[in-house]
Amino acid sequence: MSETRTSGPAPADRTAIGITFGNSNSSIASTVDDKAEVIANEDGDRQIPTILSYVDGEEYYGQQAKAFLVRNPQNTAAYFRDFLGKDFKSIDPTHNHASAHPQDVNGTVSFTIKDKEGEDAEPSTLSVEEVSTRFLRRLVTSATEYLGKKVTSAVITVPTNFSDKQKSALLAAATAADLEVLQLISEPVAAVLAYDARPEAEVQDKIVVVAELGGTRSDVAVVASRGGMYTVLATVHDYEFNGSALDKILIDHFAKEFMKKHPGVDPRENARSLAKLKFECEATKKALSIGVNAAFSVESLAEGIDFASTINRLRYETIGRTVFEGFTRLIESVIKKAGLDVLDVDEVILSGGTSHTPRIANNLVNIFPATTTILAPATNTTAINPSELLARGAALQASLIQEYEAADIDQSTHAAVTTVPHITNAIGVISVSESGEETFVPVIAPETAVPARRTVVVAAPKAGGDVLIKIAEGNTHIKVTKPEPKANDSKAAKVEDAEDSDADFSDDESDDEEEKREKVWKIGATLAEAAVRGVKKGGKVEISINVNADLAVTVTAREVGAKGGVRGTLSA
Ligand code: ATP
Repeated sequence: MSETRTSGPAPADRTAIGITFGNSNSSIASTVDDKAEVIANEDGDRQIPTILSYVDGEEYYGQQAKAFLVRNPQNTAAYFRDFLGKDFKSIDPTHNHASAHPQDVNGTVSFTIKDKEGEDAEPSTLSVEEVSTRFLRRLVTSATEYLGKKVTSAVITVPTNFSDKQKSALLAAATAADLEVLQLISEPVAAVLAYDARPEAEVQDKIVVVAELGGTRSDVAVVASRGGMYTVLATVHDYEFNGSALDKILIDHFAKEFMKKHPGVDPRENARSLAKLKFECEATKKALSIGVNAAFSVESLAEGIDFASTINRLRYETIGRTVFEGFTRLIESVIKKAGLDVLDVDEVILSGGTSHTPRIANNLVNIFPATTTILAPATNTTAINPSELLARGAALQASLIQEYEAADIDQSTHAAVTTVPHITNAIGVISVSESGEETFVPVIAPETAVPARRTVVVAAPKAGGDVLIKIAEGNTHIKVTKPEPKANDSKAAKVEDAEDSDADFSDDESDDEEEKREKVWKIGATLAEAAVRGVKKGGKVEISINVNADLAVTVTAREVGAKGGVRGTLSA
């Protein structure tokens, strides 16, 4: 059985798109002239709520279906993607309390929904696979209408912890929607692809943390990007710190404010009032990502009473502090799990709707060194819209592979091939200073997938002559330099800013008092030594290191512009 694609049309007959199918929202994207673009559906939405609702036999999807969560919750299916391929006993229905409830039908997760016309029409029992098929069909129809040609195929993103059973269920749901799945790609890789495809991107070896912060879950991954190959080094998944938790902060805040004016009336206790409250709180939350003040207003919130209020960003950041700190901890924990330090991370990509939140990105600026790029709208003007990253990455991948025969796609994207072996330690050159001090110059970074080949050019000693080259393994460690104790202790009484960490610690003392942490290379086992004879004055030596798929290392060293050189191979 193929885990990566379903049968479908011949390459020439395909029209392929990228799809991200989330618990909260989905998006569709297509590639035109190598540029991926997220497609707006017929309602003009690029983030399409993953919701289906039935009213009088009519099917609504996306934003229109979301609006029915207030008036027609029992016939509205929401937050179901994660239930695909799962046994009823293992699901968490927390987010379904205000929509159709998942039910156990012989162990399969199902929903009972009135999807036919007529007062007396019998409700249907729809499996989560069937609901997914219907939803995917709507996405494909929207893309087909936009592109003006029938969409036949797609690359779909999935979380890194989607099991084989879940993938199979998703493939089955797509096949039933008449959609060929070219490949399922993992969300963090889709996000990195979207960034690496930018014309200005330099594809260089780097360690990237991808934080995919959605509505019901947060998934963070450390990805090693080496010569255009991506290796996922570690992942964490969390279902507590998410967009819904931030909605809840505002729901409680405004409910309490309402109750101050109307004692004894708690809008959270009535299902319809709560649905209205949630809907408006999400809009207020989004407004706080752009502005520093946001309005909140609901007609007939509870017992026919209208309610209007405002909130500023600082207040929101104060009441949501625990959740905001939770996101930071998640990101710290995945770096630790990968055996790395924040100093090893070159880029942090914030993806998913919740990543629009300025506080989340700003908190990361405080834990990462200045050399780490935090790619989020609040911290980087060139950041890609976090809500569009996954669909764009999927569309780019779809455009790359759509012209291949189905069997070839299977071969090149099969799990066994994509999880290639990689080296653990760096391999590099030891350079010796005039005083005899040795330093390690990394040539191939740790976690590089093999086979790999990198070349460096080093200057020979000024006088020329025989140049000794030492190739070794290397590893980083973090060197911590404690600050010198201060003679004058009066500064110790510095007041910590507890409320707002936006405060600019521009006073020099606070910087001075911080310990210094830097990444330094430690020289490991020597792999090879070679001498390049008779290098001319001011000459240069080119060293190529080649690691084969079986981890055997070949080193070639030669004088630039001269004939000959030395070459040696070490078996793994
Ligand atoms: P999941 O699968 O975790 O439920 P998803 O991947 O389906 O999520 P996303 O669109 O990535 O969905 O994230 C949805 C969350 O992002 C919602 O909680 C939504 O309120 C939040 N969100 C969307 N836009 C913004 C914004 N501008 N500012 C803050 N939060 C936002």
